[in-house]
Amino acid sequence: MKIEKVETFPLLHRLPQPYGDANGFKKYRSCFLLRIITDSGIDGWGECVDWLPTLEKGFHERIIPYLIGKRAENRLPLVKVIKKWHQRAAAGVSMALTEIIAKKAGLSICDLWGGRWQDTIPVYASFQSYSEDLDWEGHSIRLVERAVVDGFTRVKVKIGGKTIEEDQRHIAGLQSKLQESISIVLDANQSYDAAAAREWEPYFSKWNNFLWLEEPMPMDRIAEYKFLRSALSIPLAGGENIKSAKDFLPLIKDNAIDILQPDPMHQDGIDGYRESLQLARLSGLRVSSHVFDGGLSRLYALLAHACLPPWSKMEGETAEPVEWDVMENPFTRLLPIDLPADRCASRMVSASGLNSIGISFGNTAGTVQHTLNKGQRQRKPVFALFLRIWNLRQIPAI
Ligand code: MG
Repeated sequence: MKIEKVETFPLLHRLPQPYGDANGFKKYRSCFLLRIITDSGIDGWGECVDWLPTLEKGFHERIIPYLIGKRAENRLPLVKVIKKWHQRAAAGVSMALTEIIAKKAGLSICDLWGGRWQDTIPVYASFQSYSEDLDWEGHSIRLVERAVVDGFTRVKVKIGGKTIEEDQRHIAGLQSKLQESISIVLDANQSYDAAAAREWEPYFSKWNNFLWLEEPMPMDRIAEYKFLRSALSIPLAGGENIKSAKDFLPLIKDNAIDILQPDPMHQDGIDGYRESLQLARLSGLRVSSHVFDGGLSRLYALLAHACLPPWSKMEGETAEPVEWDVMENPFTRLLPIDLPADRCASRMVSASGLNSIGISFGNTAGTVQHTLNKGQRQRKPVFALFLRIWNLRQIPAI
């Protein structure tokens, strides 16, 4: 199978109401999709993230001319070359070539990867807690309340962008309203030092519904992470910007972290990303993928987690949760696994439905299933994705 054509789809959505974290406000969301078509007629889709004009220029002036005429089966060598030019572009190409080889083999992605261990994957609602609202704390709590009504029982909220006092008041308000209903992740986006992180320990000791503290400090402060891991009473997580399994090794070797958080779009392609998942398992650590940008990378994270052996034997604790962006972002809704009208009790995505993706993605006969609250499964044709993409393509790139 020779690569015959590559199409690109730079998508931009301006946010009417900016939202943010310790790194500042987001005023838009973007998504860069690509479609690789082979001379056999088999195609595959990929997604990557960066400044859209950079990706568009990079693909059309260098990556696409390099790919045309190459064997689509040579995924790893092709991705290795593109990675030298732009690692995140290589991750998107890796996704598309994975889909192509699965279709060629007549296998689902999960079967291609050795089969599923999990039938359902838990997800947590991920928030950007800061807004321009004068009452940002109240606004944030109302968003979480809405997610609880929608069935989420795990949430991630942001800290580190306000004073510790303000952030702690926000979390205390959240606990007073929803402590019985939710487990909470706190994400500081690397904005603290160890002393600031330790100021949260009284809160961690007071309530038992914290899942983990995410990236309190820059991830290269290995010794301080090791110190914090023993000083705090909840797990430490991080690594969403770590670029390869190899780069997780210092954290693992020094026992500095509890939960790895690789992102499928930030690593050495989908294959490198799966190496990080496996490294966590080999090291006896939990792994909870970071996925914040688009629907396709989230889908690949769900597929990869479905193919991971259980991390424990405890009932209900065999699979770690995957991030589920609930902020305004049309690109996470491009794939119909995010059904807008569904209400499910525990927000579990059905992996058995995802199992069909590998051979049906881009095929009008394909379906994705989503577990609903009454055990009911709803089917939606995957071709809806393409209709939505074509509509969104009218949005100009910045
Ligand atoms: Mg984070």
